[in-house]
Amino acid sequence: MLRFHNTLTNQLEDFQPLTDNQVKMYICGPTVWNFAHIGNFRTFTFGDILARYLRFKGFQLTHVMNLTDVDDRIINESHKAGKTIDEFVQPYIVAFWEDMEVLGNNRPDVAPRATEHIAEMIQIIETLLANGRAYESDGSIYFRISAFPEYGKLSKINFSGNETGGSGRVDTDKYEKEDARDFALWKLVDKSDPAGWDAPFGYGRPGWHIECSAMSMKYLGETFDIHAGGIDLQFPHHENEIAQSEGATGKLFSKYWLHGEFLKIDNEKMSKSLGNEFTLRDIIRRGVNPLAIRYLLISVPYNKQLNFTFEGLKGAETTIERLQQFRRLVSEANTENGSNAEVKALVGKALTEFETAMDDDLNTSVALAAIHNLVREINTVLAKDELKSDDQTAVLEAIEKFNSVLGIFGKEECEMLDAEIEKLIEERQEARRNRNFARSDEIRNLLSEKGIVLEDTKDGVRWKRK
Ligand code: AMP
Ligand code: ZN
Repeated sequence: MLRFHNTLTNQLEDFQPLTDNQVKMYICGPTVWNFAHIGNFRTFTFGDILARYLRFKGFQLTHVMNLTDVDDRIINESHKAGKTIDEFVQPYIVAFWEDMEVLGNNRPDVAPRATEHIAEMIQIIETLLANGRAYESDGSIYFRISAFPEYGKLSKINFSGNETGGSGRVDTDKYEKEDARDFALWKLVDKSDPAGWDAPFGYGRPGWHIECSAMSMKYLGETFDIHAGGIDLQFPHHENEIAQSEGATGKLFSKYWLHGEFLKIDNEKMSKSLGNEFTLRDIIRRGVNPLAIRYLLISVPYNKQLNFTFEGLKGAETTIERLQQFRRLVSEANTENGSNAEVKALVGKALTEFETAMDDDLNTSVALAAIHNLVREINTVLAKDELKSDDQTAVLEAIEKFNSVLGIFGKEECEMLDAEIEKLIEERQEARRNRNFARSDEIRNLLSEKGIVLEDTKDGVRWKRK
């Protein structure tokens, strides 16, 4: 059973989607004002592994990740550069998807941009104004935290005693918020500033938090299964998302909340504001294999801090090379027909250990250990020349499974080699001769997923790459 640590309940919980086996998941995406650093990518890689594993487990996943393309930093920087918001962010959006691909992260199913969802944000703000959970002050609109008693349920911060709101409010006609904790839903913007939108409550621009409420609910519904992001978003961003969404709908917003821990460097959080960040590009420029960066980022479970060092990265490079070399050795091994019961058991054990580890709140480090054990054990079998053809297929299929979740063997290397394809075709023929059509279909499907098309002709089977 798949279990996650749910920040909302602070418990390890069995994962049970709201509807059948459909999973609706939202992950806070990047603010596209610069190149993302590898700390950001630790969180996005965690999101990718989470998505891949849900699919591996057979769930029907809808994966949404937004792009924050309007906030104070973007507006300031675009003004400085003499560009519109759109002109300013465009190259960073392109760079972000390039980086994601280089790191082996799949694209989410939907990647909405905040500036394309202003109408949805306005609608939520209107609902909150109408039900008394938002108010206007000096042209801006704020969320009234005192009208949402559950505020703090995600971050577990005790806000009592902190309050200055309610009857204690003073001078709301001035710039004051009713309560120091209240946060902006909509910020007044001068009409002469192009970085604003018309709304029934005045020309302005959205606060950051409302963006995610609007985009997640638009694509996933008012209540969905999983909301994820980096740990620094737990408060105030996610707490505020809950307040706005549940304050508007009266329904549970997200059932599970997952938070990824920081990538640190010299024991400080990697961040642009501290100036200690490395972008993915910085590191690749040093000639590092991007797969090694991916390996390093997932070598520690998502909910534990990880300290980045170049030494660690070097170690990851060696490991990646060893894994790729292992895959090559297995697929190129000259094997005799038959199978070796010991190998079958080793592969079965590794797959079980892998899945048990991933089921346990995505424990990638234990999952990786299961893979390394298998590599060691099969290397011993190879050294004794005892690997048989069926074992070879079984090991390669196991690697495919590991790779479909972790993506550490790489795409290129995962392209099936001719010999491997021919072995599978031979096995399919054998299965057909034995009237084992389930296995023969399984092999056809496996090959089809790899882009290999089979054609049965009177002279035998022909195959080609799609
Ligand atoms: P931003 O582009 O600043 O909105 O951040 C994008 C994502 O990166 C958010 O989910 C952050 O929580 C996450 N993040 C920022 N710094 C780090 C870090 N050092 N380690 C892990 N995740 C981070
Ligand atoms: Zn968000």
